[in-house]
Amino acid sequence: MDYFTYQNGTMYCEDTSLEQIASEIGTPFYVYSAKSFTDSFNTFSNAFEGRERIICFAVKSCPNIGILSLLASLGAGADIVSGGELDRALKAGINPQKIVFAGVGKTRQEIHEALEAGILMFNAESEQELDVLNDEARKLGKRAKIAIRVNPNVDPKTHPYISTGLKKNKFGISVETVREQFRYAAGLDSLDVEGVHCHIGSQLTDVSPFADAAKIMVSLIKDLRADGINIKYLDMGGGLGITYKDETVPKHEDYAKAILDAVGDLDITLIFEPGRNLSGNAGVLVTRVLYTKDSGTKHFKVVDAAMNDLARPSLYDAYHGIKPVYETENRITCDVVGPICETGDFLARDRDIADVPVDGLYAVLSAGAYGMSMASNYNSRPRAAEVLVSGGKYYIIRRRETYADLTGPESVPAFLRNR
Ligand SMILES: *Cc1c(COP(=O)(O)O)cnc(C)c1O
Repeated sequence: MDYFTYQNGTMYCEDTSLEQIASEIGTPFYVYSAKSFTDSFNTFSNAFEGRERIICFAVKSCPNIGILSLLASLGAGADIVSGGELDRALKAGINPQKIVFAGVGKTRQEIHEALEAGILMFNAESEQELDVLNDEARKLGKRAKIAIRVNPNVDPKTHPYISTGLKKNKFGISVETVREQFRYAAGLDSLDVEGVHCHIGSQLTDVSPFADAAKIMVSLIKDLRADGINIKYLDMGGGLGITYKDETVPKHEDYAKAILDAVGDLDITLIFEPGRNLSGNAGVLVTRVLYTKDSGTKHFKVVDAAMNDLARPSLYDAYHGIKPVYETENRITCDVVGPICETGDFLARDRDIADVPVDGLYAVLSAGAYGMSMASNYNSRPRAAEVLVSGGKYYIIRRRETYADLTGPESVPAFLRNR
C-alpha cells in the first residue's frame, strides 16, 4: 500500500491529502492512485518481457472509463463480459484488437456489437454459443475469431464463490471433451478458431494452480495443432490475488515464471486478464463516522458507507483493512456498520481498529477491485463519487449520484397521473 501513506499524521494518496478531498467533495468516495495502476500494469507486463503478449484488464473489477483510459494509455487491452463493458472499453480508447469477450451468456445483440467493433476474440463457453457466434458472423458477412474456454478442472484453493475452473462450475467446456468442440468449431464456416482460454478462479495466492492449468493448456494446444487447428493465442485468464490482510502473494516475476516454464518454447501469443491484481490495492473507500453506539456487549461505528457501496464484506465475508485517515493512538474493538436496514450491512466485525471519533474519517483499504463495480442503489442511496489521484492533483472521474439520477429512469404509469 505504498500509494496510501501518512504524511504529518494524515493519510495521503500519492501527494494528495484524503482529508482535503473529503472536505471538498464529501463522503463516501472511492479514491484510486494512478501511479499504483501504472506501476502494477508495467511490472505485470514486464514480467513477460521477450514474449508476445496482450494484457487485457478485467473491466468488471474497476470499470470507470477514467481508469480504463489510464490503462489504455499504458497499452492495456480489455477483458469484457458484457455489451456494457464493450461500450466502456471503446469509449475509453482501448484498441478493439486488444479486447477479448468472455461470459457464459452472451446475447446475440452483444455478439453483434462486438463483431461490429472488430474485437480480437470471443472466448466461447458452450457448443450452442459456437453456433450463435457463427450465425451472427455470417449475417454480418464477417468472420468471428474465437477461443474456447477450457475448464481444466484445477482447484484454485480460493473462496468457492470465486473458483471457476472446477468441473462443478458453470464455466467453460471440460478439458476431456473440449478437443471435439474445437473440431466442431473449426468446421463452422464463419469462425476462425485461434485461441484456447482458461480462467480458474480469483484471488489466487499460490502459483501452482496456474502452472498446472498452463501445462494442461499447452498439451491441448499441441493436440489441436496436430489436429490441424492453428492455435495462435493462449489466454490464461486472470485471478492473481492481492494482499488484503496477511496473504503472501506471488510476485509478478514468480507468476510469469510458473507460466513460462509450462509454455517453454511454444510459439504462441500470451493473453492475460488481470483484474483485482491491478486494481485491488490501487483504491480505498473513504467514509465518515456518523455515530458511535454501545449495545452493552458490543461497540459500533456507524459510518456513511454501506454494503451498497462495498458489498464484499457482506457477500463473501471478505476482509478489508480499515485505517484512520487522521492517525490516532486510541484503539477499539468494534463493528463498522453502514446505515442500511440489513444486519448483513457491515464493513468489518469484531475488529480491533483505530478509534476514530464522530465526524472523523476511515479509509477502507484494498477496495479498488469489485468495490464500486458492485455498488448498488439499495435503500435509494446515491452511489459514491470516484476520484483518481495523480501526484498532487485529484480528478473526479465519477461525480456523486444525485436523487435525480435515482428516479430519472422511472415513471409513474398513465393511470395514476393527474390524480
Ligand atoms: C473475473 C474474470 C477475470 C478477472 O479476475 P481477477 O481475479 O479480478 O483477476 C478474468 N477473466 C475472466 C474470464 C473473468 O471472469
